[in-house]
Amino acid sequence: MKNDIRNISSDALKSWLISHGEKPFRAKQIMHWLWKQPVQDFDEMTNLSKPLRHALKSDFVLSQLHLVTTQNSSDGTVKTGFRLSDNEFIEGVLIPSKERVTACISTQVGCRMGCKFCATAGLGFHRNLSAGEIYLQVWHLNQIAEEHYKTGLSNIVIMGMGEPLDNYSAVTTAVQFLTGDEGLGMSHRRITLSTAGVADKIKQMADDGIKIKLSLSLHAVNDKLRSQIMPINNKHTIQVLAESLQYYHGKTNHRISYEYVLLKNINDQEIHARELAEFTKITPCKINLIEYNPVSGLGFEKSTEESTQRFMKFLEGRNLIVKLRRSRGADVDAACGQLANKFRNK
Ligand code: SF4
Repeated sequence: MKNDIRNISSDALKSWLISHGEKPFRAKQIMHWLWKQPVQDFDEMTNLSKPLRHALKSDFVLSQLHLVTTQNSSDGTVKTGFRLSDNEFIEGVLIPSKERVTACISTQVGCRMGCKFCATAGLGFHRNLSAGEIYLQVWHLNQIAEEHYKTGLSNIVIMGMGEPLDNYSAVTTAVQFLTGDEGLGMSHRRITLSTAGVADKIKQMADDGIKIKLSLSLHAVNDKLRSQIMPINNKHTIQVLAESLQYYHGKTNHRISYEYVLLKNINDQEIHARELAEFTKITPCKINLIEYNPVSGLGFEKSTEESTQRFMKFLEGRNLIVKLRRSRGADVDAACGQLANKFRNK
């Protein structure tokens, strides 16, 4: 099987060029077509000779990503669906607010983490996205944002379908191009990676000097409840997670964000708020309370407004930085995995 040319490094590309009797400076031109002005066909690399384009075609493939659906929500959210070259389907969401446009992107087709409240979990795990596919998704979303909101992306949250730290190498390579001069040149500070809690990879992010922000989808702070709703907790327990977060903070000095989706009568009582306040003492942090976007058939409901306010006030009373994130795009299947479930087998 041919290698995706977006999976190889600039040095490997130079070696390939030399072995084909070409000058190594061509690598810079090719990198431009791969990342700066991404093309979907080698023949679009118009400043390369025909024989070189032919040789590239013989040895490599180009990752493909085609926009197949766009749904506009009444609240301004745009949900998009992309087909990949093997006919798999992924989702990306654009979320506008007063001062920014945020893209929520996918890193896998499906997911193997099995969180009980999540529509993507029902798809099972199909495959990892390549670095090229992750990058192209952002590139397309940036184009759509410019057309739709007349401004490009200001932020990216790696929080869509899939567990990004279960696809570490492709995600970190994509980030390198999203932030590098060869690609979109975005600031690291505007990219947030959200994990269900792959503890060893959280440590690796710190060791590898990955500068983007880290967010942990916590959702419960005692092992019994967390394992019930997030099976990953059976292996990466609260204690193991706490150690990895302290290690991460110790090395990076970054503040941790916690995502906590409020599920009615499951994790939204005072005892849970107390546990959350206690746990989050381990490092400087902020907490995002998230209004649940119900997925039919999963049996979870969003917390009442009264419980939500009580939960929030409890945390604020402990001097924690807390934000309530209202669910967006409910009329366009914006809960992660909902659209993909619809498009499955289409
Ligand atoms: S919430 Fe995230 S990690 Fe959990 S199953 Fe869904 S996509 Fe995977």
